[in-house]
Amino acid sequence: MHAGEPGGARGCGARGRQRGQAAARAPGAAHPRHRGGPVRRRAARRPGQPDGRPAPALRHHARPVRARRAPADRGGHAQRRVPRRRCPARRLRHPRRDQLDSEVVPARGRVERPRDRGKFCRSISALPQTVIFDLSINQIEELQSERLRAMLAMCARGHPFYRRRWSEAGIDVASIRDLADLERLPLTTKQELMADPEAFRLRLPELPLYERALWEVLYTTGSTADPTPVYNTTHDYHAYLFQSRRVAEISGIRETDVIANLFPLTQAPMGAFLRSTTNAYAAGAAICAALPGAAHGAFGVHRPLEYAVHMVQVHRATVLWGVPSFVRRVLLRAIDEKADFTSVRMCAITGEASTPAFREELRRCLRALNAAGTGVFDRYGSTELGAFAQCREESDWHNPAPEIQYHEIVDPQTGRRLRDGERGMLAVTHLDRRGTVLVRFAMGDIAAIARSPCPACGRTGDRIVGPIVRGSDLVKVKGMLVNPSALLGALGGVQGVEEFQVVIRRENDADPYSMDEMVVRVACAPGLRAVIEQQITEKSVAAVQVRPRIEHVEAKEIYDPGRETKATRFVDRRSVTRT
Ligand SMILES: [Zn+2]
Repeated sequence: MHAGEPGGARGCGARGRQRGQAAARAPGAAHPRHRGGPVRRRAARRPGQPDGRPAPALRHHARPVRARRAPADRGGHAQRRVPRRRCPARRLRHPRRDQLDSEVVPARGRVERPRDRGKFCRSISALPQTVIFDLSINQIEELQSERLRAMLAMCARGHPFYRRRWSEAGIDVASIRDLADLERLPLTTKQELMADPEAFRLRLPELPLYERALWEVLYTTGSTADPTPVYNTTHDYHAYLFQSRRVAEISGIRETDVIANLFPLTQAPMGAFLRSTTNAYAAGAAICAALPGAAHGAFGVHRPLEYAVHMVQVHRATVLWGVPSFVRRVLLRAIDEKADFTSVRMCAITGEASTPAFREELRRCLRALNAAGTGVFDRYGSTELGAFAQCREESDWHNPAPEIQYHEIVDPQTGRRLRDGERGMLAVTHLDRRGTVLVRFAMGDIAAIARSPCPACGRTGDRIVGPIVRGSDLVKVKGMLVNPSALLGALGGVQGVEEFQVVIRRENDADPYSMDEMVVRVACAPGLRAVIEQQITEKSVAAVQVRPRIEHVEAKEIYDPGRETKATRFVDRRSVTRT
């Protein structure tokens, strides 16, 4: 967002202001506009405007006038006053905030369909894209089958991994004609992608430039210390904008929002961080970033927790966007500092599993801050997939773009597709990508799928039904996907260590919602402690980008050969279920 344009002034249009004033004035009183109302009086105080008329340059770009809540208003959402400013595009018809709130905000109950609210909402995120959700599931699957045939034909021509894989298995991919046939193709595992990510890039020189040009590289966890790249061409970036617009539409992010990106600034570009801007662009919203995270590099650009609180205040952020435990940390600090978080209406969290109790804890913090809303949306997603969207809190996760990805629940051993409602491993097939392309990619998470219309909003298409359980051997620590074997491999090489053990736990055992903490318990000679601490820290950060806390213990506390057959090197003491 632009400097000097605090996000509090989101209300648009003199029309909306006139309506509000007209409603408030006494019966029979002259309209303020006809007797030099507040706008003229304010302008008249400006030096150099003796006739009381604002200068033309300021007329459309006046600084926002921040409204103050009357004490009686505090806590009452319906009566809150909305800061307004004169809109630079006054000819456009803008909704009043109260109209937007009643029409768009997803609540715990049923929400209105986007086409129903078109009368008021001119938000970009509400423009025509909803047609797909009016089709029947059969019509959607027919469209997906058509896209699948085209995608597989491209892979057969220019995807090194699948060309080799299908040829070895003797599969004629041209015989895969629809989604039912797709079950005949083998699953792709995360380990296969990690082992050779370059082989998953589509290479078709005959495609137009925008389908080939590399737009961005996102990184997900790797089999070694190096993370795995996922390549997006311009075509894929546009597809993600398209998907994000749907996510915004489904989950109620709109162009009047100011998103505070609280994701950490990591060593390799992480999807959640980079895509926060794409999501904001797609919704037409403003965005600012707090840049937290473990410091690295020589430029000193990381910022402390206090700065995140400051950013939310100064930009009047409406949506907090980040890893659940960090978002909570920001809210707790804001409560301590008595910060003004009255603009915040929603937390959009992703990056680690959260429980209903944790999300209720976030709502408690929002209430304590007298926030404008207490919505908490759990954005299940991944670097390979992008985000799914909840149409209301605590509901299933809609596939926002059935045109570009197909999901199935499979038996991870056999690859057999399971029936709707059965729990198994989620697998994704890209239907319209040009960079990294995945077919029947087993996500590693256990869930179910529903393909009936959503009971909350009526949208068709598929929905992921929780609880989602991370079924792979990868774990999330502070929002980073950590590969324990890469970490243990790195720590195993530190000289002078007698025993070591990695423990993932909550920072505060008494507080189940506190941040993750990675502790390395180590046994070594007392004289070596300082050197070994430094080495373990360096190797951990290099291997998994997480800075550990180090505890010195006796060797037998980790491994007592008299009692155990082998040492337990990695212990995760948290619950990892997303419900
Ligand atoms: Zn829904």
